[in-house]
Amino acid sequence: MGLVDRVALVTGGSRGIGKAIAWELVGQGCQVGVNYIDFDQNKEQAEELVAEIIQSGGKAFAVKGNVADPSEADAMVHQVVNHFGRIDILVNNAGITRDTLLVRMKEEDWDAVIDVNLKGTFNCCKSAVKFMIKQKYGKIVNIASVVGLMGNVGQVNYGASKAGIIGLTKSLARELAGRNINVNAVAPGFIETKMTESLPESARENLVRQIPLQRLGKPEDVAHLVGFLVSDKAAYITGQTIPVDGGMVMN
Ligand code: NAP
Repeated sequence: MGLVDRVALVTGGSRGIGKAIAWELVGQGCQVGVNYIDFDQNKEQAEELVAEIIQSGGKAFAVKGNVADPSEADAMVHQVVNHFGRIDILVNNAGITRDTLLVRMKEEDWDAVIDVNLKGTFNCCKSAVKFMIKQKYGKIVNIASVVGLMGNVGQVNYGASKAGIIGLTKSLARELAGRNINVNAVAPGFIETKMTESLPESARENLVRQIPLQRLGKPEDVAHLVGFLVSDKAAYITGQTIPVDGGMVMN
């Protein structure tokens, strides 16, 4: 229960990796704003998760907003502060893919992925950091991807957005190191979520052959590392990008 009285915002927190991160933080006693975008099904998912967390004795509420929109990202952060009184932890997890080969990639596919994944991370950091600097305390974890480290066919937009997140993480970590704010990135490999469920069986088998631990990851595999990075046990770690990938990328 190392995060009692701490407050977090998890973007894209209603399903997949974000949901596992929300549970991980709640499990450590943290109060969590669970972000969703404003589509009916997403709202239901986020509200269901919040109800389950409250039923389990935790504290959470659902926060509507599109991370790609600077004013919505700012409003989300303000809602968390208004609700819980502060914001200690920001997990930039919201992300999308629009996969295709570069020769077929439309400008909209490029823009959409950069806007949500990279600009969304910038927008949320910009709003949350103002409060963290005043509090003289903060933990930011950005969800990147092994694709940002090693590249992948059909993902020039996604790979660029995730490599951008890694560069943002290093620069922001240097900017905020003197303010008692840690900024790190986690680079998941291939994790079992909606994002990867449409992979054809042959592609999945091929993938597993490239993973030393011989399986896709679970959202909880990523969440456990995020839970550690936002705890005070990780106080001396900043500016790092840590893969959770079954050994795909070895430095
Ligand atoms: P997912 O199941 O598709 O969930 C993505 C989440 O992002 C959803 O909660 C979605 O919200 C949210 N989101 C999308 N656009 C948003 C926006 N504009 N504003 C706010 N929220 C938005 O994907 P996932 O696999 O859990 O991925 C989570 C993160 O991990 C992403 O950044 C992804 O790139 C990264 N990642 C995933 C894998 C993998 O293998 N799954 C590997 C490496 C990295 P709604 O539910 O409201 O649509």
